[in-house]
Amino acid sequence: MKALVSIAITICLSSNIFSQINFSAESKKYIEYNDPVTVFKNVLLIDGKGSAAKPHQTVIIRNGKIEWIGDDAKATTPPDGKIIDLNGKALMPGLVMMHEHLYISAFSLDPFYLNVRQLPLSFPRLYFAAGATTIRTTGSVEPYSDLRIKKDIDLGLFPGPSIDLTAPYIEGKNAMFPQMKENKTPEEAAAFVNYWADQGFTSFKAYMGVDKPTLKAAIDAAHKRKLKITGHLCAVTYAEAAELGMDSLEHGFGASTDFVAGKKENECPAGPSASGSLGELDLQSDRAKQLIQRLVDKKVVIDSTLAVFEGVASDEAVAAMSPDTKDSYSKISAMMKAAKPPGEDKAFAKMAKMEKMFSDMGGLLTVGTDPTGIGGTLAGYGSWRAIELLVEAGGFTPLEAIKIATLNGAMALDLDKKIGTIEVGKSADLLIIDGDPSKNISDIKKIQYVFRNGVGYNSKKLFDSVKGKVGFN
Ligand SMILES: [Zn+2]
Repeated sequence: MKALVSIAITICLSSNIFSQINFSAESKKYIEYNDPVTVFKNVLLIDGKGSAAKPHQTVIIRNGKIEWIGDDAKATTPPDGKIIDLNGKALMPGLVMMHEHLYISAFSLDPFYLNVRQLPLSFPRLYFAAGATTIRTTGSVEPYSDLRIKKDIDLGLFPGPSIDLTAPYIEGKNAMFPQMKENKTPEEAAAFVNYWADQGFTSFKAYMGVDKPTLKAAIDAAHKRKLKITGHLCAVTYAEAAELGMDSLEHGFGASTDFVAGKKENECPAGPSASGSLGELDLQSDRAKQLIQRLVDKKVVIDSTLAVFEGVASDEAVAAMSPDTKDSYSKISAMMKAAKPPGEDKAFAKMAKMEKMFSDMGGLLTVGTDPTGIGGTLAGYGSWRAIELLVEAGGFTPLEAIKIATLNGAMALDLDKKIGTIEVGKSADLLIIDGDPSKNISDIKKIQYVFRNGVGYNSKKLFDSVKGKVGFN
């Protein structure tokens, strides 16, 4: 009898909410819209394809999918529709962010030891609060925690984005992080790929120490399973990686060792980092243009992560940090400021410009947060900064930056038939912004609601729920 009553209640409830997901009490704290049909009226429409923003639009979504888009004057409001009058606020696609680790830097300075700390609760939530409805994790350090986070979000236990889970790093010799396995042979790397694919990981990332034979084996193993592989490389150059069949490369051109003088084959150059060599590079030289052209020709996606190179936390990000994280960030950032290598600003400016050149020459550029470095680039806050820097440092227009952060990410994940733009038939992954990011990119911070599959979450409540705790869990 009790069972029947509970079934009756479930049926009754499901008549006025559409989502099949049984959201937990925790998720429901942030959900403000969950209707089978929602009509957004008086929308400033930013479609994600790069077209100019269109005012006075109506967008109708049904059962989590976009059903109709057009002028307010031509819209027929369905009788069962929940009407949301946006009063001229912007509606844009959810962000598709491509370098969204579920961990933060947590290394020790004395004695120096590189380490990271998994943040299963706050990081997925911050990405989501900032508007990311889809993320790729781009390197795991706690794989079973990553698998669990995705499962719990998909079940509705916690609010968060859709996740493309990247397996633990495919590292070669001399791993810098204690969490990384050193794959010493091509056979070992292939077995590693197959093992993690079997566990449910859907993408791969090769790391700095992998040499060409190991990388080739990893690429082939991933491709055999129709999965993609990206890399933060060092021992292998970008030109070599393109020849080997790499799908994408991380950190824009910041990890390219192609221009490091005297670089030895299959070795990560010691001393001044790869980015140092970029500071001296003439971007109009043939060798710069030839490398970019080669990547374009080989259809290698480049993922921009300018925020982590900048490394500065906004006041809001600092306020979000837990006390130990804040303390560590302020100490490391003071130390880095004092020890800033000459030419770093020049290298940063060139890196940003190379991304624009790559895009102008026809390459597919995406954007990611990479919440590591000196600990100032937090999920969410850093995601916004990464997008702002495409405009500020890269010279993209706000509309181009929005396309990079939406449609381009979806294309890189082969999900552009489902997500990435506001078009009929796509998932209702939408952001309500109280501003116009097509004119001023920083307006993406004026986000009010994040809709994922047609369910609307209050962004501020999500941010507030982890304020002062980020870095702890
Ligand atoms: Zn990374």
